[in-house]
Amino acid sequence: MQYVSTRGQAPQLPFDDLVLTGLARDGGLYVPAAWPKLSTAEWRGLRGKTYQEVAFAVLKPFIGGTISDDDLQAIIEDTYKDFRHPAVAPLKQLGQQDWVMELFHGPTIAFKDYALQFLGRLFDHVLKAKSARVTIVGATSGDTGSAAIEACRDREAVDVFILYPHGRVSEVQRRQMTTVPAKNVHAIAVDGTFDDCQDIVKALFADLEFRDAAHLSAANSINWARIVAQVVYYAVASLHLGAPDRTVNFAVPTGNFGNVFAGYCARAMGLPIERLIIGTNRNDILARFFQRGDMTMEDVEPSLSPSMDIQVSSNFERLLFELLDRDGAAVTEILTRFRKEGTYRLDDARLQKAKAVFDGIGVSDEETLETIRKIHAETGEILDPHSAIAVRAMQALRGDSRDPIVALACAHPAKFTDAATKALGAPVPLPPHLSHLMTAEERVTRLPNSAAAVKDFVSKSLGLKVSA
Ligand SMILES: *Cc1c(COP(=O)(O)O)cnc(C)c1O
Repeated sequence: MQYVSTRGQAPQLPFDDLVLTGLARDGGLYVPAAWPKLSTAEWRGLRGKTYQEVAFAVLKPFIGGTISDDDLQAIIEDTYKDFRHPAVAPLKQLGQQDWVMELFHGPTIAFKDYALQFLGRLFDHVLKAKSARVTIVGATSGDTGSAAIEACRDREAVDVFILYPHGRVSEVQRRQMTTVPAKNVHAIAVDGTFDDCQDIVKALFADLEFRDAAHLSAANSINWARIVAQVVYYAVASLHLGAPDRTVNFAVPTGNFGNVFAGYCARAMGLPIERLIIGTNRNDILARFFQRGDMTMEDVEPSLSPSMDIQVSSNFERLLFELLDRDGAAVTEILTRFRKEGTYRLDDARLQKAKAVFDGIGVSDEETLETIRKIHAETGEILDPHSAIAVRAMQALRGDSRDPIVALACAHPAKFTDAATKALGAPVPLPPHLSHLMTAEERVTRLPNSAAAVKDFVSKSLGLKVSA
């Protein structure tokens, strides 16, 4: 199994090199050269298996022999052993054919743990085999930072530096980043916005001398290993609800398009997933695209679901590559125009191809709160605001279909106290394994909004001698 870039100019890579690469050298994202498929009989054989057993069957073809079966099995076992529900990702029934899959039983109670816990262990395995190290530098508006820190803490071959905007993340999110007592973990509060943090990270990656000296790598969802680990729970949910002999659909709260693209991969692997319904908040660029066919950038506005306060979804490039029949030059042309003009349009044939699978809807803060209240009253389930958007989208776009739809519940409601308090009158308590959070000692470095200051801090922490 080799991987190709969506821009068509970077060298093909095997899985183990890909894990350490992140962005392709031509600026594109890596995707498999061909989709691995399981036969109907193979899918049937996975029914009734554990999350870990399904994970092994789904991940193996993507890894393409770069990791031995025994090692892969051990990595998977270790990845999910401390998740706090025996099913790892339990399904709950909300209505006749309405389901939610809870993806918040990992250490930082957001779905990003399902992929990042795997990625952290992959880093260790691949780096040991190559006798190498990496330095993860990333910017976060909340959930990714804590999940990346938790995944990389105490890993021998990894150092991790996470930049967040000072005073602009929730207290739970900040404490999840600042209370981890591991020497290789560095939380950095930047005097600026999330965009400033992201610009600093980009500047460090663009500084090639520094990038090479520090062995910089990425843990955000441009890293293919994250997407592939997310395919697993689509397979687990589908098999539980009757696949491969019955159609199953999904509703996904969407920001960077990584999660829902994993659903597209599950479909490409041969699962009978007919529709992927996208829920967004008021930042509804994706919902508008699937309704009208034009991708048009607007300003990012804050909402009750901050992990989806985003305009440019980086993983959409992977779908675009498929819609344009894997023509890297066409992808490059469209995305260059988008960067310059803030808008592009797909022709009707391509749009129809996208709409055959995807549909989307924007959900307001008021509708989000209403959904939290309604589902709690009807079923007792408390949804976080992102999950509520998925449930709302599922119910709004079901139409006449009587097939099961699974809404992905991507965070625990305790993570977003603001929405819980507004909807239900009180915050939701943190799960017991996080009860220490509000009293644990914090460790954070506050830095000015300056790439030079961050570079200097990273260099000193790593013991590098790099000229400023
Ligand atoms: C990251 C995140 C999302 C968005 O997922 P993408 O893969 O970026 O589309 C949605 N909900 C929550 C709770 C998240 O943390």
